[in-house]
Amino acid sequence: MSTLKPETFKESPSEQKAVDNLLKLVRQAMHNIAFGPGQDDGKTVNYHPVGGLGRLRALNPKEDLLDPSYLAIWNNSTLEYDPGQPGAEIYVPGRRMYLGPFMLDMQLVDLEKTIIHEYLHAALNQDWQRLSMEAQHPQINLIIKQRLKYAGPPNPADPSSGWNQPD
Ligand SMILES: [Zn+2]
Repeated sequence: MSTLKPETFKESPSEQKAVDNLLKLVRQAMHNIAFGPGQDDGKTVNYHPVGGLGRLRALNPKEDLLDPSYLAIWNNSTLEYDPGQPGAEIYVPGRRMYLGPFMLDMQLVDLEKTIIHEYLHAALNQDWQRLSMEAQHPQINLIIKQRLKYAGPPNPADPSSGWNQPD
């Protein structure tokens, strides 16, 4: 996901405008996560290495129970669009992340949370990697809410699960 694959953001002609808009928002979300506040130039595809103001700089690998190579995991991952993907997903061994049409109506901040959520599935330490993705959700929600201080539901792709009480 730190390398965006804009060429995968393709849909049927009636949906293409919405997907173009999603790509624009995803670029900005990736920029905020990796580099911090500022306008994305619309051309960047490599959102690495993580800059000093990037959201991920706030992570604390020890306290958040992350793999020591958590930044390299971000740097080595990819993000693409898949029209057949029901939600969002990451294939951990290859660190390939996919967003589906469900994301088309999402606001910027919810895209940030969703991308970070998928990334954290790959970045949690080895003890967590032995557990199912569902079992990882409480820790991921905790990091997004308490460490990264995102307001509102930490898991907008699945608001019914996890820790979604109002602030
Ligand atoms: Zn998940």
